[in-house]
Amino acid sequence: MKTIAKNRHLFFLALVLLFVGLGSFGTVALANYTTVSISASIVNVRSGPGLSYDIMTQIQGGSSVNVLADKNEWYKVRLSDGRIGWVASWLINNTEIAATSELLATVLVPSANVRQENNETAEVVGTASEGEKFALLYEENGWSQIQYNNKVAWILSELIEISPGSIQLAPETVDTTAVVADDANPKVIITMDGVNVRSGASTGSDILFIAEKGEEYELISQSGDFYKILYEGNKEGYVASWLVETSESLNTPVTASSTTTLAEATIVIDPGHGGEDPGAEGTYIYEKEVTLKTAEAVAEKLRSAGANVILTRTSDVYVTLEDRAEMSNVNNADLFISLHYDSTASGTSATGFTTYYYADADIPLANLVDDHLADTLPLQDNGSKFGDFLVTRENEQPSLLLELGYMNNDSDVKTFNSDYYRSLVAESVYQALTEYFQ
Ligand SMILES: [Zn+2]
Repeated sequence: MKTIAKNRHLFFLALVLLFVGLGSFGTVALANYTTVSISASIVNVRSGPGLSYDIMTQIQGGSSVNVLADKNEWYKVRLSDGRIGWVASWLINNTEIAATSELLATVLVPSANVRQENNETAEVVGTASEGEKFALLYEENGWSQIQYNNKVAWILSELIEISPGSIQLAPETVDTTAVVADDANPKVIITMDGVNVRSGASTGSDILFIAEKGEEYELISQSGDFYKILYEGNKEGYVASWLVETSESLNTPVTASSTTTLAEATIVIDPGHGGEDPGAEGTYIYEKEVTLKTAEAVAEKLRSAGANVILTRTSDVYVTLEDRAEMSNVNNADLFISLHYDSTASGTSATGFTTYYYADADIPLANLVDDHLADTLPLQDNGSKFGDFLVTRENEQPSLLLELGYMNNDSDVKTFNSDYYRSLVAESVYQALTEYFQ
């Protein structure tokens, strides 16, 4: 049973990841998880906090996830099927919905002590019997923290079995939206007529009902050669794995097709100069004014595409070149773009825009951006070139510096100092980055 082996593997991997993740945080912080909802229409779930990590799966807007940790503005989340992944925090609605657990602890022994603390001498607050299920909150040093009679309590981990799932509430308080599968949940699809759905994971267990070919049920977990499923919204049953198929989402990573990777990108836009450093001087304007307006236009366009945009300055202030590069590094930016307008020591014949890269690795990116600018801008294209600027040289992230026209060429200034030109720059950068982040 290749499918089962793989499913099991994924399941245990998820648990291992969960406990590795939990191990680095305090007990108190994770007694309750923060549950948040997805605000974007669809969001990639990656294996790590950034674009360089593989896409594990995708989750639909409106579904909820548990936030376990955060790094670089990415959230480490636990999905409804128990798997752990990372999502861009800016694509998440940060309003906390509820504190919940979606792992189950099932008691394996006839009677188990439930204690106030995680040690053998702690006060016994009650007992749990075989088959009883509790919301699992945390695990540490061989003890599992569970929700017991609406209180937090501890039980020896060796006495329980852990599985993804949630405690079914009494019917009158069931929130059906909480248990209805979202599209990212794995499904069991019945492949033949007359399949028994049983109360337990064996052919000797009672038959609850008969499922017919083509019917789909949410897959909760595996138990031997059986799948545990949900039916009628919140009831649990078991089907023999050899009589069903599972949906692709459990077995194969979903590729990003309907979402843009640009939306997941963190992009630092650097308006050149500022404050006591005016940059190049034009007939009526300073470079620092034009770069800020251009940066705002580019930022607005990229934000409208969902990207996380960080500006190195948002007003007429002085920011050192080192700090600008550092903003890219500390934010683990997927891209840094510095915006400038050029100047020559003498003469006004120089014209047009130039795209500069520092690292060889950024040459394809520079070519791509320059091509898009050349397609759009009403100024001469001077091509993409190597340039030794501190903001790109000291940048550990992919980075470019754009010179978007000559400040000391009145004809250039007339062309580039307009909202229209800035909208063309924004559109070109947006188009190029959409391609770059595919
Ligand atoms: Zn400049």
